[in-house]
Amino acid sequence: MLGYFILHLLTALLFIFVLSQIVRNQKIDYIEAEMQSVAFMLAGHIEDLENGIQDEALVEHLKRLGNLTNMRFTLITADGTVVADSVKGTEEIGPHGTREEVLIAKNEGWGFSQRYSDTLRVNMMYGAQRIDNANRDIDCYIRVASESNKINQEILEIQTFVWVFALILSLLTSGLMALFSMRSMQPLSAFAQATRQIGIGKYDTDLAIRGRDDEWGALSEAFEQMQTELNRREQHLLQNSQRLEAVLSSMIEGVLAIKPSGEVMLANGAACRMLRLTHPEIFGKKLLEIVRIPELAQAIEKTQLQRTFSKTEFKTISGAQRTLKARVSILANDEKPGVAIVLHDVTELRQLETMRQDFVANVSHELKTPLASIKAYAETLRLGALHDNDKNMQFVEQIEFQAELLNQQILDLLQLARVESGKKTFTNTDFEINPICEASYQQFVEIAAERKLNFQLNLTEPSPVINADLKSIETIVKNLVVNAIHYTPENGSITIATYRNNDSAVIEVKDTGIGIAQDQQKRVFERFYRVDKARSRDMGGTGLGLAIVKHLTQSNGGSVHLESRLGKGSCFEIQLPLKTV
Ligand code: ADP
Repeated sequence: MLGYFILHLLTALLFIFVLSQIVRNQKIDYIEAEMQSVAFMLAGHIEDLENGIQDEALVEHLKRLGNLTNMRFTLITADGTVVADSVKGTEEIGPHGTREEVLIAKNEGWGFSQRYSDTLRVNMMYGAQRIDNANRDIDCYIRVASESNKINQEILEIQTFVWVFALILSLLTSGLMALFSMRSMQPLSAFAQATRQIGIGKYDTDLAIRGRDDEWGALSEAFEQMQTELNRREQHLLQNSQRLEAVLSSMIEGVLAIKPSGEVMLANGAACRMLRLTHPEIFGKKLLEIVRIPELAQAIEKTQLQRTFSKTEFKTISGAQRTLKARVSILANDEKPGVAIVLHDVTELRQLETMRQDFVANVSHELKTPLASIKAYAETLRLGALHDNDKNMQFVEQIEFQAELLNQQILDLLQLARVESGKKTFTNTDFEINPICEASYQQFVEIAAERKLNFQLNLTEPSPVINADLKSIETIVKNLVVNAIHYTPENGSITIATYRNNDSAVIEVKDTGIGIAQDQQKRVFERFYRVDKARSRDMGGTGLGLAIVKHLTQSNGGSVHLESRLGKGSCFEIQLPLKTV
């Protein structure tokens, strides 16, 4: 509004300036014409006078004329001497021959000029008419003067009028303009508001200028189309990224995308878990600065240089050591491309491989010992001992014992293999655990007595009922009782007990035998692990009994606990979930 107002005032100023000039010029032209007319009439009058410019009554005539016309009349001779003046006496006025208007009139008949009058001390307009009548011997100038201040006065009046008019007009028009522009620009603020909303991701702002029949209407329609399209695209992008996120987060493989500069662009949960990194820590940082793995660095460099893909395997440094396999491939065909890394956790695989290798080595070693014994005894017999009646029977018994050991080992191995294969080889039924313990007791009570062991049963009544594979539980109890008999010296005691513990049924096989040292207690459950190899073998042990116990218990949803003190005895506890009613 202020802008319009100032613009109007400037226009008014220019208009007034031009108008003033025109009016001034017109006024001057008018006054000049008036002056000339009066000068002409006076010239005619002078020429009619008998004495010409020397006439006595001429001064009075000029004064009268001056009063009537508000002009000043001066009569100047050809040599410049003032002979009469309507305002001042001739003696007060010096020669006037060199005045501008007089000089012009000398050549052109009529001269006009404007200047400040030293005589009257006002701005004046001067017109001079030459009278050159040779017949009457008159050669003089009639000079007519008029105050130009009056013109200024008139122009000022006009200016004032125009100023007032322009001011009112300016106020009116700029007010109207402001009103009009406010009305017509109002939709713009709606657009600005809606655009701001789009900027913060809101696409549902209603413009409220729909249905207009002008350009705003068309624009709002186009804008709404744009809103819908943007919304659709954002939803599409969102869905895509959600899908990608879901796929990436559900992947077991770790996925990482690395910028050409080495910073992490994308990492799924699995990758963070494998590299032991937290999400906020990883993004925007250089991967190789956070995980200092030389193998990975080399694979990335190789991939970037050769623009193919490379594979590497490495062990993590932080936390529990894991073995990871990485496949690095390039992301884009840039000069120095970014890379995508897919990580596989092969820790278990490698552990299994090692275990398998160990197992094969162990099995062959274990089987070799009894076989070598059998071979040695058979050879001894062949080489003559067969006829040695003192020894031959002993050697045949040894061959039988070793063959039985071999048989037992193979049976144990097969059982272990079956349990470990994970195949469903169990048939679960509901049964009481006391009868199993009793059966085992009956089976070994005589052997225990032969070895002078105090064998006892301490069963809780009524018997706890479990839902498990009967055969498994029988094997577990049998293996534990056999071990207890094997590793308890004479006069020791063995107890099979049952009881309930919260939701579990517990079978306890306790002895007062040689016991197991603290550091060995975990290892006795490993395959082929024996604290004392020779002793175990002499007892006919295979080194697999406790491994079978552990696997069978776990396969039946239970757990094994061992409490033992060297030289004092051992207590094996089998906890199995009670049957749910
Ligand atoms: P083995 O056939 O040698 O008995 P096991 O797997 O049954 O194999 O037991 C592994 C080892 O654990 C045994 O060699 C023995 O050293 C130790 N062990 C098992 N049971 C007992 C026990 N009741 N008392 C002392 N040591 C035991």
